[in-house]
Amino acid sequence: MKILKFGGKSLANGNGLDTVLNIIRQKVQNKEQVAVVVSARGNATDELITLLEKARNGVDYQSELKSFKSYQLYNFNDNYQQEIAENFELLEKLLEGVSLLGDYSLKIKDLVIAQGELIAAKLIAELLREQGVKSSFVDSRNIFVTDSEFGNAHIISDVSKKKTQDLFLRFSKDEVPVVTGFIASTQKGETTTLGRNGSNYSAALLANFLNATEMQNYTHVDGIFTANPELVPEAKIIRHLSYEEANELANFGASILHAKTIIPLIERNIPLRIKNTFKNEDSGTLIHNESSEDGIKSISVIENNALIVLEGRGLLGKVGVDARIFRALANKNISVSIISQGSSERGIGFVVHSNDANAAKLALEEEFSQDFYTNDVSSVSVIDNVAVISIVGQNLDTFHYPYNALIRNQIVPLLINNAITGKNVSLVLKTNKLHKALNVIHGEIFGVSRRINLVVFGKGTVGATLIDQVIDAHDNILKRKNISLRIVAIANSSRILTDASGISTNWKEQFEQEAVNYDFSILQQFIEKNHLENLIAVDVTASKAFVENYIQLIKSGFDLVSANKIANTISFDFYQELRENLAKYQKSYLYETNVGAGLPLIDTIRLLHHSGENITRIKGIFSGTLSYLFNTFSEENKPFDEVLQFAIDSGYTEPDPREDLCGNDVGRKLLILARELDLGNEFTDVKIQNLIPEHLREGSVSNFLECLEEFNAHYQDIKDGQADDHVLRYVGDLHGDLSDTATAKLEVSLVSVPKNSALGQVKGADSIFEIYTESYGNNPIVIQGAGAGAAVTARGVFGDILRLAERNNF
Ligand code: ASP
Ligand code: MG
Repeated sequence: MKILKFGGKSLANGNGLDTVLNIIRQKVQNKEQVAVVVSARGNATDELITLLEKARNGVDYQSELKSFKSYQLYNFNDNYQQEIAENFELLEKLLEGVSLLGDYSLKIKDLVIAQGELIAAKLIAELLREQGVKSSFVDSRNIFVTDSEFGNAHIISDVSKKKTQDLFLRFSKDEVPVVTGFIASTQKGETTTLGRNGSNYSAALLANFLNATEMQNYTHVDGIFTANPELVPEAKIIRHLSYEEANELANFGASILHAKTIIPLIERNIPLRIKNTFKNEDSGTLIHNESSEDGIKSISVIENNALIVLEGRGLLGKVGVDARIFRALANKNISVSIISQGSSERGIGFVVHSNDANAAKLALEEEFSQDFYTNDVSSVSVIDNVAVISIVGQNLDTFHYPYNALIRNQIVPLLINNAITGKNVSLVLKTNKLHKALNVIHGEIFGVSRRINLVVFGKGTVGATLIDQVIDAHDNILKRKNISLRIVAIANSSRILTDASGISTNWKEQFEQEAVNYDFSILQQFIEKNHLENLIAVDVTASKAFVENYIQLIKSGFDLVSANKIANTISFDFYQELRENLAKYQKSYLYETNVGAGLPLIDTIRLLHHSGENITRIKGIFSGTLSYLFNTFSEENKPFDEVLQFAIDSGYTEPDPREDLCGNDVGRKLLILARELDLGNEFTDVKIQNLIPEHLREGSVSNFLECLEEFNAHYQDIKDGQADDHVLRYVGDLHGDLSDTATAKLEVSLVSVPKNSALGQVKGADSIFEIYTESYGNNPIVIQGAGAGAAVTARGVFGDILRLAERNNF
């Protein structure tokens, strides 16, 4: 025989009920022998409790009672209406009594809420009969006997078993008994209940007593998930669970299973299948004897808790303090879940239900009043609105992964606790961090698409290219690396577009239509409201104002990736302050594209430097624009202004070419490299040879563009005055004694080099960097390639983003 259990939502009027009847009928047609256990339909139990409360408080409950009745009556047949008349009558009487007395006992409450299950079972049996299926209503109070702990009664097994077996002997093989879940009775015949969500337990008991081959639990969800899918969209269904694993889950808030459900099943090795009523073809979750190979992991949550902390220096070494604490709480019937005490015994923290928090505080204050007086206990405090997340199946040897991920996301648990038996780590944290914490932990321990959320500042040429590249690469990165890289906001200096589910290809139009005025607090609110984790801010602006946000961003939980050179080239004080904050908040800042665009330059220098290799000199052509200018001028027999004009017309230069020609940009790059070597130089320390004749340095762009001819004589002279087989190159050079800021030399100048030297051979608009180190001696490491351009810069920024995203401990 199979035991089928249907939950309240499955039994709702309309589609739910029809589906349930179909499932049962189908099984009967297939000659399967089944017994059905039902819980109250819809929200009947909650509604009955509300009715009781109203009656007790003298509030009018008639209209609510009416709607309860009309839902339960619906348009069902007369037989059913006659059968349940007695239940409605009893309800009315009981409610009337409660409203007269102004109170009710747990016993009355059990009798009232039991009507929900009774009505439901009568209905299902009747509707089955109406559809030609042989069926009988079974009032479980006649077979399940309990003690008299109303509200949470305990089954007396042998008596119940005997009664159940005797009754079931009477049913023929093709008959479907429909049994009330949740309810039972004392030996005296008083109605009891087995605890909220108890009809699962009833079904498991029935399965045990009748030695069923399987129990099937039909719910409104697909099965047991790795986390609550409403909170964690990436949650996955768990197909197999062992009894032990399921039991851990049941104890830790997985609301589909009543905590006691598993035990009767283990005893007889009866498998339990959890299925979605509305997706009958789906196999759901099977709980049985075998465990999944590497053990399951699932995250469950208990909300509405409070953390109580008792502190006192005088507790150190005192015997019996803990016993007093728990006795005081037990006397008030307060149950404690997680407990934590340091070996120093300076204090103890534990978790109780929010409703009990005040009573617990009072009980402890009373118990320890004398110790307050002697200053041995200094305080009892309550931290309310906390939640407990339990990672079931979590070993301590890999706990650092989810833990680091939480810290990186600025979520610091109030308390951590691991179960010695059973693999299970619990974290207590503020409820307002719960949602985000669940997503972080889940992404980390299941490696299912860890989400990385990007905010891109700047949508100019590089920004736009980057945004397109990221959106394009999304599916591929998801497939290869299990990382879902999403852009959740795009901002420029005045406006911001946000989309928590990820901005897509039509972002340009969307920005035009939907972007709102930008200010930092808008971004912050958006991040908080949507519980966004694993945040990276990407700066592809050239804005100085924006750099002022960096430290705020770090504090708000962002890592930084930047193509913008400003943060690294303004004062050394800021440079250091930024890094201090990065260290303090455990954030990273990558800016590979600051020098040589996408070329792997900064990373290489950093690796050498950090591994202790002594870098003695860095020299090279840092500007693609000026590389093009002097490569061409040296090679071709053309006047300087003609080459310059061509570079301007081709868009190789900034709109005002003087920004390239003044050498400041090269100077900044040189400074960035120097600082990578821990030199504390300022921009003013860089000696820069300005390529613009002095009288053309001021004035309008258009005026300047008229006067390019005035460069010619000077540069022609220099070109002609070179030694044989030499060419001109505009070079940045970091040299001198690099062990100290004072002795380091940072120079940018136009030099003449042999045509067959490394610098002399550079072509087109390439950049080249020579890194001299002690071990490499006179043969520098050379990095060469396209050092400018929107596409390669965007790729370089993308590379930095991926480097952060792939970190194990994001
Ligand atoms: N109807 C009861 C409740 O709501 C039992 C159950 O649903 O399993 O708690
Ligand atoms: Mg680079």
